[in-house]
Order: sequence, then C-alpha cells, then structure tokens
Amino acid sequence: MSAPAASQTVLVTGASGFIAQHTILQLLQAGFRVRGTLRSLAKEPEVRKVLGDNLPAGASLDRLELVAAELTRDDGWEAAVRGCRFVVHMASPLPSTPPAHEDDLIKPARDGAVRVLTAAAAARAAGDGPTRVVMTSSVAAVLYGHARDGSKVYDERDWSELTPLVGAYEKSKTIAERAAWELVGKLPADQRFEFCTINPGLVLGPILSADVNTSAELVRKLLKRELPGCPNVGWAMVDVRDVAAAHVAALTAPEAPGKRFIAAIEHASMLDVATILADKYAARGYRVPTGKIPGWLMKVVSLWDKTARLAVQELGLRQDLSTKQTRELLDWKPRPLAEMVTAMADSMIAHRVV
Ligand code: NDP
Repeated sequence: MSAPAASQTVLVTGASGFIAQHTILQLLQAGFRVRGTLRSLAKEPEVRKVLGDNLPAGASLDRLELVAAELTRDDGWEAAVRGCRFVVHMASPLPSTPPAHEDDLIKPARDGAVRVLTAAAAARAAGDGPTRVVMTSSVAAVLYGHARDGSKVYDERDWSELTPLVGAYEKSKTIAERAAWELVGKLPADQRFEFCTINPGLVLGPILSADVNTSAELVRKLLKRELPGCPNVGWAMVDVRDVAAAHVAALTAPEAPGKRFIAAIEHASMLDVATILADKYAARGYRVPTGKIPGWLMKVVSLWDKTARLAVQELGLRQDLSTKQTRELLDWKPRPLAEMVTAMADSMIAHRVV
C-alpha cells in the first residue's frame, strides 16, 4: 500500500451490490478508506455482516462508513462526495425481469449518474471534491443494436444503437453513460475531475451471501434445472473479482482518464457454461441441462413468457469484444470461464442457494 492510500477515501455508490461489495473488499485491502452509499441505512447491518464475513487479510471494517443516498433524489449526494479523493459510481437498477415501463430503469440510471457527477463537480468547486470518478457502465452501452454476427470485434469506440428492439436495461446503461460523458465534457475548469468508465460483460464469480443478484441467475437456473435445455445464446462473461480489480486499477492508472474499458473475456455460449457445470457437479447430484432448445421452440414459448422473449432477441447473436486497452492500460489479467463459473457454483452451494 502506498502511504497516501491510507488517507484517501473512495466513495462507492450502491454498496449493497454484488460488484460493489467485491470492490469495497479490494479497496479496503489496498488500504483505502471507503464510504459506501445505500438507498437506506436500514441495510447497513446486513451489508456490514456480508463484508465482515468475507474480509481479506489486512482489511478492516473500521475504515468503512455507510451513508444514505437514492439515485432518484438529490438528498445526500453532495455530503457523500465531500472529502472523497475518488468516486466509483456503480449504483444502477439491474432487474431480472423487464420493467413495466422502460423509464423505471432509464431515469434512475441516467438521473442518478447526473446527480453523482454534479455533486462531484460542486465539491470540486468548493475545493473538497474527487480528482477522479470511475463509472460502471456495461457492454450493454457498446454492442446492442449492431449485427453481432461474428464479422466484427467491438471495442471502446463502439456505442449501442438504440433501435426499437434494444431492451430497457441496455437503453438505461447507454443513455446513462452518454449523459455522463456529456456532463463531464462541459464542466468549467474549477469543477473538472478525471473520468473513465468500466464496461463489464455478464458478471459471474463468487457470491458473498445468499442474496443472489440478476447476473447470478444463469448459473442458479442451470444448477437448479429450471430450464429444459440451452437456447443458442451467449455472452462475453467476466469474474466479479476481475471487474472489481479493473475499477481499483482505474482509480490511479495514469492513462485511464477519458477512456472506456471493456471488461469481459471472449464470447461463450450458454451451452459452454452448462457443460462446465455438468462436468463438475453431476457427480454431486446436480442435473444440469445440456441439451439444445431449438430457436422455433423459444419463439413459441416467447408468446407468453417474458424471459423467453428476451432470449429470442439474442438468439444466434455474439458478443465479440476487444479488451486490449483494458489489459494494457490497467494491467488487467482476467480469469478464464471455467474458473468464474465454478467459483459462482461453489459459492452458491456454500450459501445454500442451490
Ligand atoms: P446489483 O443489483 O447487485 O447492484 C445494484 C446496486 O445499485 C445495488 O446496490 C442497488 O441497491 C443499487 N441501486 C439500484 N437502484 C438504485 C436507486 N434507485 N438508488 C440507489 N441505489 C440503487 O448489481 P451489480 O452489482 O451486478 O451491478 C452493479 C453495476 O454494474 C450496475 O451499474 C450494473 O448496471 C453494472 N453491470 C453489471 C453487470 C452484471 O452482469 N452484473 C454487467 C455490466 C454492468 P439495492 O441493494 O438497494 O437494490
């Protein structure tokens, strides 16, 4: 740990989240003080318990403070950023089913980002604000609305095209990230701070408690055999520990400001994930489905099933992404697919989720 880290505070928004908790643990281990935001401090005991149960060697919860702030309201944000050297803005809704209205996701994502960045700018002007803000975006802001047929590898220069077929979550991440870059680009000199984004793929890896978030649903559903087989869909996936590490590195990497960083490994199919799980866990009684579900059947089921409708839109599409910039500028070395899948499965078994 460098000497200054001990006196530097990092604000992490959405401290109850899956990625945020891993990030907080890595920040504490690196010696930073952490201030986390929660929608309500009613969750504080639960969050402290989960973090306390998973503390790495050398980290202490004495260096963690939790404060209340909600993305849809102004209260609390200015006080939250005051005195922080860095901000990691991660909070954003990630539901497992489509919302009643797309604005239910777009508004908190976009307005929340604007609130956090505006508070950071005001604190800068007052001489008490962060020098750098790292925002968690997504490959949802990079890939969607494009052909994704294997003929192109997408990178940080690509932005999702918000065609009518693009879902509410992907829209929320694209609109929020665009709003953030626009706001940061227009700041007057006295309010300016450095800014970059981390754009993860589908996040797997160890869960820290039995509270399962949306990106754990794939592994959970396969282990519980809640699906009859695997449709032809796939993702660029990434281990949560590597996503957290990318955020921590981006706080201080000299060449990070002004850049987007894709955090995901190469495309893999749902059948690839199912096969890894079947190979390792069949002997322990888990009947992981490894058959294929044909596209026509998905289309029929999607007439009444909302989750199937989401899958139909993704049938046959690929997530081919370059992580050259992330590897080079953040010294990023992501774990392979089998490791993130089995780490998630092992942790689900340990927490009795499956
Ligand atoms: P989680 O659902 O575990 O965490 C989301 C966090 O955002 C929670 O702390 C949640 O609080 C908070 N939040 C949601 N809505 C609000 C609100 N209105 N006001 C305040 N806080 C709010 O998801 P992840 O950890 O997976 O996601 C974290 C970030 O990473 C998000 O920005 C997500 O879009 C992004 N991401 C995630 C990927 C994934 O596969 N998991 C992939 C790519 C990007 P509460 O606990 O109270 O609900």
